[in-house]
Amino acid sequence: MNDLNIDFEKVNGLVPAIIQDADSNVVLMLGYMNQEALDLTLATKKVTFFSRTKGKLWTKGETSGNFLMLESLTLDCDNDTLLVKAKPVGPVCHTGNDTCFTEPNNTKIVFLETLRQIIKDRKNNPDEKSYTTSLFASGINKIAQKVGEEAVEIVIEAKDNNKELFLGEAADLLFHYLVLLEAKEVELNEVIEVLMGRHKKK
Ligand code: AMP
Ligand code: ZN
Ligand code: ZN
Ligand code: ZN
Repeated sequence: MNDLNIDFEKVNGLVPAIIQDADSNVVLMLGYMNQEALDLTLATKKVTFFSRTKGKLWTKGETSGNFLMLESLTLDCDNDTLLVKAKPVGPVCHTGNDTCFTEPNNTKIVFLETLRQIIKDRKNNPDEKSYTTSLFASGINKIAQKVGEEAVEIVIEAKDNNKELFLGEAADLLFHYLVLLEAKEVELNEVIEVLMGRHKKK
């Protein structure tokens, strides 16, 4: 991470830095860094820019508390753009949005990761009112049985022509499937890796 060979001359001292959410890969914002901002970012792990409007160093979050915690820094193919992966402490945009780009630039599938984290949290921090918590309390066998029931329900709806009901059962199945993975302490990524491994063989 320290052997970045940025062509500062080419970029007139300011290298554009694309900030990406380290977990979801959502593009959060774009800023500019000079050598000092880059050094400070590496030293403090708090993403720091050179603000062109303020004409000085700006640690993102310095007044709002919404820091961007550095995870990784990489350069593009011709050493003139930085890709910064970071974990946002709070909303990144001054408007209060999670990202500076109003159009959600992630795919909907990223929500599965958010949902997975919520499910994990319901397991680790039991919440009496939560259905998910009650599932974990009922044990792995009951959860697996629930997946089986939802699978039967989607089979039934598959025979019908009601898209709304089919979607509902598809969602039920996926949700309970994620709960089962969590109960078994299996990561969704591990399942995806199995699928990717099969794909390679073909
Ligand atoms: P902060 O760095 O979050 O403490 O915010 C301090 C000031 O920086 C805000 O009042 C805005 O003027 C500006 N600012 C904050 N976040 C952004 C952003 N994502 N893009 C551009 N300007 C920002
Ligand atoms: Zn480039
Ligand atoms: Zn913004
Ligand atoms: Zn159902």
